[in-house]
Amino acid sequence: MLRAETSLRYLKGVGPRRAESLRKLGLCTVEDLLYVLPFRYEDRRAFARVTDLVPFGSETTLDVRIARARLIRTRRPGFTLFEAVLEDATGSVRALWYNQPYLEKALRPGRRAVVFGRAVLDRRGGDLILENPDYELLDEGDAEGIHTGRIVPVYRRLGELSSRMQRSLLHRALQDLDPASVPEILPAHVARRRGLLPRLEALRRTHFPPPEVSLEELAARRTEAQLRLAFEEVFVLQLALALRREAARSERRRVAYQVTDAMRTRLARLLPFRLTEGQKRALREIGADLRSPRPMNRLLQGDVGSGKTIVALLSLLVAVENGSQGAFLVPTEILAEQHYRNFQRLFAERGAPYRIALLTGSVRGAGRRRALEGLESGAIELVVGTHALFDENVRFRRLGLVVVDEQHRFGVLQRAALAEKGLHPDVLVMTATPIPRSLALTVYGDLDVSVIDQLPPGRLPVKTLVREEADRDRVYRGVRSEVEKGRQAYVVVPLVEATERSDLKAATAFARQVEERYFRDLRVGLLHGRMKAADKDRVMSEFARGRIHVLVATTVVEVGVDVPNATVMVVEHAERFGLSQLHQLRGRVGRGGARSYCILMVGEGVKTREAVERLRIMTETQDGFRIAEKDLQLRGPGSVFGTDQHGLSDLQFLAVALGNPRLIEAARAEALALVSGGDASRDAARRALAALRPGWRRRFELAGVG
Ligand code: ADP
Ligand code: MG
Repeated sequence: MLRAETSLRYLKGVGPRRAESLRKLGLCTVEDLLYVLPFRYEDRRAFARVTDLVPFGSETTLDVRIARARLIRTRRPGFTLFEAVLEDATGSVRALWYNQPYLEKALRPGRRAVVFGRAVLDRRGGDLILENPDYELLDEGDAEGIHTGRIVPVYRRLGELSSRMQRSLLHRALQDLDPASVPEILPAHVARRRGLLPRLEALRRTHFPPPEVSLEELAARRTEAQLRLAFEEVFVLQLALALRREAARSERRRVAYQVTDAMRTRLARLLPFRLTEGQKRALREIGADLRSPRPMNRLLQGDVGSGKTIVALLSLLVAVENGSQGAFLVPTEILAEQHYRNFQRLFAERGAPYRIALLTGSVRGAGRRRALEGLESGAIELVVGTHALFDENVRFRRLGLVVVDEQHRFGVLQRAALAEKGLHPDVLVMTATPIPRSLALTVYGDLDVSVIDQLPPGRLPVKTLVREEADRDRVYRGVRSEVEKGRQAYVVVPLVEATERSDLKAATAFARQVEERYFRDLRVGLLHGRMKAADKDRVMSEFARGRIHVLVATTVVEVGVDVPNATVMVVEHAERFGLSQLHQLRGRVGRGGARSYCILMVGEGVKTREAVERLRIMTETQDGFRIAEKDLQLRGPGSVFGTDQHGLSDLQFLAVALGNPRLIEAARAEALALVSGGDASRDAARRALAALRPGWRRRFELAGVG
């Protein structure tokens, strides 16, 4: 019998070569595969018929034979069209796939395929067509009951494994699996109290739903089986966070900081403006943390432009005033330099004698040596830097507080990295990604949360427009007229998957074109990630001082960049950006009192429905909270947090859990009860974590559980 921990290469149909490619994806055992869950389901109990297709109706599944197929090369270079005529007993319909020339090899005439998609009217003739439908080739001998004749799970392609292959493998694995090799992770009393299915049964029903299950519930991931898996996921995460919080609390105490009146006066003198109520509240909460001997672990959340930087700076200076050192950690060199420059200028203008240094990968030679020595001796009180701060040569004399700006860019991993250096500073992490409370509990369960819920006074909403190629002249003339009024502009160009080098060439060429065509007598600057740090810094500071009028940039300006005089942003190929990214980008304008504009240029060619939806949302709202929620719905949790480095992207049920705060509360309550229930109970908690398969354990180490 097959066991959960059996290596995948012993699963019939896998073999050494596929096993190796799966291993590269982090899938080693049968159990790993069991947790690769379907991303959607198709109702193949009865297929729709071609004659019944209606334009813009609902998504349907057809069982067809490929009658004809051809690859069409269009006049546009690099753009291909693959066309297939699909037929069943009732009629035929055309399907088009864009830029997928390899389909020619797969979708051969004569083959049987299951096709899933929505019919639309083709642009010219008004014919009914399917655009980019999903397809799955069937073999004549395919067993009824796995690939058809039921509600069928659909998987994302895994390396060489198509959805259909995964379905076959999983079906076999679930049949042959020794149930005793899939132990429960939830303590028995928890499963009983919450009426949860056994783990293996939940997995079985999630892959191959029983016939009585509702398709809507499946799609919403709300069946009993799916909720059982969601519960387990949240429970384990909460357990890990709770154990970590326990450890942090008992581990260390520091001297409580003092905040004296003299200090308050000194800090107040630094303020360039009156703080908003939200900023004041956040500062009060942080201040209370700092005055207590308990270490601070706080998340400061505030939408783009809400003014988190000044709150961070004042917090750092409280640590400095108490004789500690402060570190301001940011995700990009551009941002490090901006903060450093601004703080330095502020200190100089107001006669504040704080000693500050910059430390990034590009600070080298004597400058670097000075910074390192100063940090080690304590002569430097405040350092602004990138992940270069984690370098093993960086030693602090007395690191008191670390602020992590744009936390979502870092991953939780790096918070742990500081602790590994033997440093246990207070930590303030900041993010502009507003997250629902349920999500905050799930992923930041070990942090206290402060929220800045308002923007500084006098801000106007950024007027956001979607424009097309045909509007280009008008758009850029508009940009020009803003510049003539003394304003500045960003033009953002995407760096896509193509080799970075060719993209950079494209960006450079584009900058030149734009300059010649529209801005001949203006100063246009170019900024991208591959430039030398010194050049980036020069361009950025010239832009900040208004000496560059139009900045053509890649997404290096996405986070944090603050030039209030910039009032226009044009985003080229806006359809290629994710929602959160567009929101961050747009946040670069509208930072002063003047009306600002954000123009989302969409390129020619196909836009996915999702892209159209994203652009619509952008024009509709500027509320980062709503945008994040939408993004979550459209793309899942990985999107909201940027990257995989969180290990969050494989929290498969986060989105489900989010729609179900009661589930989160329940799982959290059970986890907390287990951790706070005395030694025996805590041991049970540790055992539950130890029973996790290696993939999970890796994931939770990412969340900082050693
Ligand atoms: P974010 O929260 O996105 O990091 P910043 O800290 O960069 O925002 O602040 C955005 C802009 O608003 C900056 O130009 C900053 O100087 C300004 N600002 C911040 N707080 C206030 C305030 N209370 N009143 C006026 N302007 C402010
Ligand atoms: Mg910021």
